[in-house]
Amino acid sequence: MKMKLQDNHSYHQLFKNWFKTAGQLLVLLFFFIPPCKSQSSPIDFEKYDPKSGLVVPEHLLRRAKFPFVDVHNHQDDMSASALENLVNEMDQLNLQVMVNLSGGTGNSLKKMTTSVKNKYPNRFIVFANLNFNGIGSDDWTANTVKQLEEDVRNGANGLKIFKNLGFSVVDQYGKRVTVDDPRLDPIWDKCAELKIPVLIHTADPRQFWQPMDEQNERLLELQTHPGRKKSDNNPAPWQTLVDEQHRMFKNHPKTTFIAAHFGWYANDLKSLDSLLTDMPNVLVEFGAVIAEIGRQPRAASVFFTKYQNRILFGKDSWVPAEYATYFRVLETTDEYFPYHKKYHAFWRMYGLGLSDEILRKIYYKNALRIIPNIDSRLFDQ
Ligand SMILES: [Zn+2]
Repeated sequence: MKMKLQDNHSYHQLFKNWFKTAGQLLVLLFFFIPPCKSQSSPIDFEKYDPKSGLVVPEHLLRRAKFPFVDVHNHQDDMSASALENLVNEMDQLNLQVMVNLSGGTGNSLKKMTTSVKNKYPNRFIVFANLNFNGIGSDDWTANTVKQLEEDVRNGANGLKIFKNLGFSVVDQYGKRVTVDDPRLDPIWDKCAELKIPVLIHTADPRQFWQPMDEQNERLLELQTHPGRKKSDNNPAPWQTLVDEQHRMFKNHPKTTFIAAHFGWYANDLKSLDSLLTDMPNVLVEFGAVIAEIGRQPRAASVFFTKYQNRILFGKDSWVPAEYATYFRVLETTDEYFPYHKKYHAFWRMYGLGLSDEILRKIYYKNALRIIPNIDSRLFDQ
């Protein structure tokens, strides 16, 4: 009996000690081992990147099927060594002619065009820009037209208008200069006379004006780039800016305009269809909006077929590896493949599989038709 009691007692003590040690161990585990993620813990939307289980053909194209012109590019440095590096990268993509829209005006433009002429006269086209300082003063318009004529004499082959027109350009009274401001009319007419196109970027994606909530398709972009948020008061409603641009296009039917970024209508091709029907002097380029095209391959194929003479290849930011996404959307019939920037597009895309005839027009024929002095010998006609 006694023995048994003693035994019971020692078992009791043993269990007590064991539980104490186990408890200490648990406490230690809690503090020193990072909590492992259970299946039910929430994952940040931006981090959620499941590997697609879909098994379908993949064509990762690092080179365009045909030589092409990129009509929407920005290069600040066009020194001989910079051009040499660019041409090496361009050759790998089959990019024959790069249009640098950041040519500036006056001496800076002349410096660029001279460097191009000396080093690679037929691989780069430079567009001039306007200096809006002093707009509204008596002689601003006349002087600016004169400067543009000089820039074209110095080798500019087009005019690029940045989005600051409409957003932030103000006249001498501090008033916002609208895109269709009559003080700019002689400039658009001069471009028609000089037979140079005007590539113009007005406004931004419509979602930048929408509330930053769970319904905004560009929420990630606005969170990572807060400066891009716009409102109806700052600077103006989206529709107002876009309407100003369209009125200006219609007021100058002899001038050829390229609406940058599909005029921010890549997500609404039905509206873009009516706009282009209304404005025969307007072409579009798809810089930075290829993900919109890639998410509606059937509607986009119909649109590209109808407007095959009025679509140009544009990319905007110079990241050579990203061109693969563009080639894949245009050339292949690949399915459910990702875009390269999640904050532009968290969805997957589908290739349009455009015909060679349409591809040739978009890659170079349309550009050759509307931009002067592109060397046609670089392209198989
Ligand atoms: Zn741009």
